[in-house]
Order: sequence, then C-alpha cells, then structure tokens
Amino acid sequence: MPIFHECQRCTACCRWPGEVRLSESEIGRLAEYLGVSPDDFIQQYMRLRSDRRGLALADKPNGECIFLTGMDCRVQSVKPQQCRDFPNLWNFPGWEQHCRAIPQEVSEAEYRQKLLVACGRTG
Ligand code: SF4
Repeated sequence: MPIFHECQRCTACCRWPGEVRLSESEIGRLAEYLGVSPDDFIQQYMRLRSDRRGLALADKPNGECIFLTGMDCRVQSVKPQQCRDFPNLWNFPGWEQHCRAIPQEVSEAEYRQKLLVACGRTG
C-alpha cells in the first residue's frame, strides 16, 4: 500500500536552506497574482541560483522564503509546483526529522486522488 504524507502546513520546508525553481509559466502566474510584470517579479522576488544556471525564489536575510509571512505562504493559491510536490513527489534524506506531514497508508486510488488534490498531479 502506498504512503501519502499529509501536509500539516508546519512551514518547515519554507524555512530550511534550499532553492525554489520556477518555470516561465510560474513566473507569469505569480507576477499576475501579485500585480507586477514578469520582469519586475524577477527583480523583486528572485535571485541567481548557487550554480549560476538560472533563478530561484529569493530568501529573506534569515533564510526563510521571501513569501513566507508568519505561518502563511503569501502566494499559497498559486505557489510553485516544487512547493506543492514536497514531500510526496520529492524529498531528501532526513526530511522527516523536520517536517510534520503525517504519513498515511492509503489505497492506490486514494493515493492518486490525494496527489491530484495536493500537487495537481497523478504521480
Ligand atoms: S513559495 Fe510559499 S510554499 Fe513555497 S517555499 Fe515560499 S512560502 Fe513556502
């Protein structure tokens, strides 16, 4: 039986070091949501990735994502796919020690349904 990890909105994944990459269409979608042009969005909310091969969301000085406001994501309804997919479609060794998502054993059909709701994907 597959295990689905149900996000509890603990925001741990928005606070630890890392890089949130955005596709062109995500840049357009977030820019529209915030009422700025894609160029202004890139200037205000993105930075160069550490491998210098593209852009990622900017961080605040304390390392949190620039869109984290208290315990809320400022762009929750249009948040990037990378954020939506964690931790079910990607994660890294040791992630369970920081994230409060609750593991649930579910049927294949439930798993696909939950992925669709959480990530907009069927896996
Ligand atoms: S965009 Fe939202 S969900 Fe993604 S890391 Fe930033 S605050 Fe968290």
